[in-house]
Amino acid sequence: MSLFLSKDEEAFKTKARTFAEDHVIPQANEVEAGKYPRELIRDMGRENLLGAPFSKSDGGQGLGWVSEVIVAEEISAANAATEMSRAASTTLYAAPLAYFGNNQQKKDFLRPVLTGESIGALALTEPLAGSDAAGIRTTVAQRGDSYVLNGEKRFITNGGLADQYFLFAITDRKKGGRRGMSAFLVPRESSGVKVVKAYSLLGMRGANVAHIRFRNVKLPPENLVGRKNQGFDILLDELDRERPVVSAEMLGIARAAYEAALEYSNKREQFGRPIREFQAISFRIADMAVKLEASRLLILNSGRLLDMGRSIRKAGAIAKVYATEASFEVANSALQVHGGIGYTRDTPVERYFRDARFMMIGGGTSDIMRHIIQREAYRDLESRSKA
Ligand SMILES: Cc1cc2nc3c(=O)[nH]c(=O)nc-3n(C[C@H](O)[C@H](O)[C@H](O)COP(=O)(O)OP(=O)(O)OC[C@H]3O[C@@H](n4cnc5c(N)ncnc54)[C@H](O)[C@@H]3O)c2cc1C
Repeated sequence: MSLFLSKDEEAFKTKARTFAEDHVIPQANEVEAGKYPRELIRDMGRENLLGAPFSKSDGGQGLGWVSEVIVAEEISAANAATEMSRAASTTLYAAPLAYFGNNQQKKDFLRPVLTGESIGALALTEPLAGSDAAGIRTTVAQRGDSYVLNGEKRFITNGGLADQYFLFAITDRKKGGRRGMSAFLVPRESSGVKVVKAYSLLGMRGANVAHIRFRNVKLPPENLVGRKNQGFDILLDELDRERPVVSAEMLGIARAAYEAALEYSNKREQFGRPIREFQAISFRIADMAVKLEASRLLILNSGRLLDMGRSIRKAGAIAKVYATEASFEVANSALQVHGGIGYTRDTPVERYFRDARFMMIGGGTSDIMRHIIQREAYRDLESRSKA
């Protein structure tokens, strides 16, 4: 397994970076002011930057998951809220549909998202169930030939404007969340769907994160994805695929923060010399560089394992806990290197600091990542001692 990028991946990286510099950076302030990056997502579709891992026959690029982490890092380095909006649609929503949907579902609900014409959202979290995903209360009951959905979802990225949700609900209460959960496609325009509110966020401004209520929403049988009660397995597969991508989002922020600190420390002078000449500053830069490099390798490792069809339950959790915490530390250090100006909105550094805080929570908190890592480590130990 090579940790270096192939020629094709290098070319894709250059394309993604050029797009980010030419289109995302110029709109970063508008997005930060609250404008959802709808047109940018459409433009990314036109530039074939959406759906890198999915097969061409499903409307993807057929490039693999390493390319998906590449695009996540590049777009996020320019503006993390734009990347979060992109990934919620074309990674979180799209992946379970690509791997578990049937041909008709992919034609109707996946392809339009991968061209950027339509927006998707993944709806799992609820007011009473976050880390404990198997504890969701939203239900879908069978009524004759169709299904009826009732419940609430909160913190749903793209939730207020998505054309459709990839939603998890309980279909068999007696079996509980792990064995009685199913996945459904739910058009937002369905009767009984209400977007209750969009949250005001610490960072990731411009992203749309909503609370949604579902009251007696009728769904046709063809909106069930995969088999009935297969939902928890679909969810675990989705979370595995999502983790390297959201980690790469945080790497993108960290890279932007590091580069800002590097440049600033080179030109800012105090006591008659550039502040980089003070070891307190230059060693901070060194620590930031170490964290970036380690994050990139861990993310690439999990992306490559995904492309090899290997389990990344542990590798993905390791990448996520490390890269997301490192990103926040790097953004914090970058702010410190900037001194007072870093605390103002005159530079994007304060935005990096706020944006980087998010992914220690989203997609499974750092505590949950540590829980997964130790559980898998002890499982490895048990299987070694049985062998
Ligand atoms: C901006 C934003 C966007 C989001 N986007 C989406 C989305 O698109 N779709 C979606 O479905 N969800 C989304 N989420 C939800 C996100 O995944 C959850 O917030 C996250 O999983 C944590 O759940 P919670 O907020 O309910 O916290 P809780 O689960 O209530 O956790 C509270 C605290 O308890 C800790 N904790 C809980 N259980 C354990 C345990 N077993 N061991 C140790 N510590 C534990 C947690 O680590 C945390 O510190 C988003 C959240 C945010 C903030």
